[in-house]
Parts: sequence; C-alpha cells; structure tokens
Amino acid sequence: MDVDKVVLAAPRGFCAGVEKAIKALDWMTRVFEPPVYCYHEIVHNRVVVEHFRRRGVVFVDDVALVPPGAPIMLSAHGSPPEVVERARARGGTVVDAVCPLVTKVHHELKVRASKGYTVLYVGHEGHEEAVGTMAVAPGAVRLVERPADVDALAGLEGPVALLNQTTLSLDEWRDVRERVAEVFPEVWTPSRSDLCFATTNRQAALREAAADADAVVVIGSANSSNTVALAKVAATVCAGPVLRVNGADELPEGLSGVVAVTAGASAPESLVDEVLARLAPRDGVEVRATTVEEEYFPPPPELRELLRALTGVLDAALGAHGDPAEPADRDFGAAEVLAAAPEGQNP
Ligand code: SF4
Repeated sequence: MDVDKVVLAAPRGFCAGVEKAIKALDWMTRVFEPPVYCYHEIVHNRVVVEHFRRRGVVFVDDVALVPPGAPIMLSAHGSPPEVVERARARGGTVVDAVCPLVTKVHHELKVRASKGYTVLYVGHEGHEEAVGTMAVAPGAVRLVERPADVDALAGLEGPVALLNQTTLSLDEWRDVRERVAEVFPEVWTPSRSDLCFATTNRQAALREAAADADAVVVIGSANSSNTVALAKVAATVCAGPVLRVNGADELPEGLSGVVAVTAGASAPESLVDEVLARLAPRDGVEVRATTVEEEYFPPPPELRELLRALTGVLDAALGAHGDPAEPADRDFGAAEVLAAAPEGQNP
C-alpha cells in the first residue's frame, strides 16, 4: 500500500436500528438457554451473524424449522405479517427486532391499501425489507425498481401512492420518484420520504469524504442494501476505484493517494479499525463529520416486558429496589456486545 491519507466519513457504521437489533438478540441469549432462534440474519453482516452463532443462535429462513416453544427473534428488516403469526403459533417467546422506521412504512402501506390506493413501492426485489413490507398488502402493492418499471404501469386506474425501501441510494430513489410524478401527477407520498436518517446521513457524509479521494472503500456485506447504496453514491463522486469489502482481508494491494472510507449501517467499527490498519496512511486519518446522530431506539416491547418481569423477580428475591421499567439497555452499545463474549462461551 502507498496510501497518503484516509478521509473517514462520519457518521458511518451501526445505526440506531441495528444497535437495537443486536442488543435485543444479545438480551435474548442472556435470558434464554441456547439455542435462541432468529428468523433471517439479524442484520446483514457476517461478523455479527458469526458472533451470535458462537453464542448459540440458530438462524433460520423458515419459522417452521423452530422447535415448538423455543424463543424466536425476528430480524431488523421486518417480517411479513404471516411469518409473525406463524412464529407466535410456535408457542415460544417471539421478539420482533424490526426497525421502527420499517414499521412506519408497513403502517403507511396498510393505511393506503385500506383506502383503495395502488401503492408503488420502490425497492429491491427479493430484499428482506421489501419482501416483508410488500406482504403487508400484497394485493395493493407494485414493486418498482427503476423508471422504466413506472412507465409499464401507466395504465393503472384509481389513486396511486408512492412508498419506498428505507435504504436506497438517494439518486436511485429520486430518479424513480420524478418519473412517478410525471406519470401519476396526483400521486400520494408521505410528507417526508421513507429513506431513513441513517441512510441519508451516511450517503451525505460519504459524498463529502469521497469528493477529493483517489479511491473509496465501503465496508459491508453484498446483501446489505444500504452498503450497496453507499457504493453507488461513491461511484458518482469519485472517478477512482470504489471497493466494497467485507473486511481488510479483501482490500487489494496497490491502493494509493487519498482513500475515503465508510461503513454500512450493519458493519461493526472493528472492521473499520482493521481496514485503517491495513491501509496504514502515511499522513494519518482525517475524520470528516457532517452530522452527529443521537437517535436511540429502545428494545422491542416484548423484550421490555420480559426484562421488566425478570428484574421484578430478581428485586423481589434480593430485596432490591431497582426500577424494573428501565433495564440498562442505554448503558451499553452493540460494539460492546460484539466485543464482550469470548468465542464459544455464554456469559
Ligand atoms: S438503516 Fe435505517 S431503516 Fe435500516 S435499521 Fe438502520 S435506521 Fe432502521
């Protein structure tokens, strides 16, 4: 490597929704004997998934594979209503780690469908968030991925609404939205787009960081929608190579000059540290911050209830007087969760 400087985008990495999901699954592994089951990858990152596998979590793509009575967590991407029902029917504790910003889109879709709208949903076919959202009202929703898909729907009758996956690139979203506005001038849209704050913040930060860079490194998984969106954004501002890598071991030799670095919303900061160490910039690392994120999402309601109940029992047994309604979730972060447990051991 012959890297002069790294410009490190901020914010990057874990968002509030991913923090919530990782900590919730960590709570599950502490409360229940293994195995705890998780429907789909809790978030799209192999380091995170492997961490939980070592802690006795079994990831399944079909809740029918979960033994009756076993605890189940549903992933951050949001699950189809029918999956939630089938999970509950297994008879064990079910905790839904869906991000509240995905739930908001589910709600919008449900309301528009009930009012007779056809909902154009901008998303990626097969992505778990898109699958889960469209399943809320499958008869009323049409998937559109690009402007040409909108043209193909020009003959639609009745009111039309426009919703979207939370993690698209701003450019890809704008292109489709503009085409929809031309074809369906009366279209209903939410007052703010459903692109989430974490997506837009990370993309804006990367635009700044990549503006003068000779190359861009985006850390995150290929199946992470917001990571792929970051790589698309980088390609519009940097003329040099844009590399999406799972970790430092995938960096090619020969990067040089100024390298911009960021990480998708499900990529742990430990991967960023490893990439920086491998790039070893001669003139150091410049953090370019565009905003500070302070969002916090509390644990899922089912988990809060469980923790309250357990805290209450413990307090009664020990004669303590803790506040059972406030488990210590705010006191630690997902990075600590991933760093805390030695391989193969439960605390
Ligand atoms: S990327 Fe956005 S929608 Fe997805 S989990 Fe994070 S905050 Fe929620």
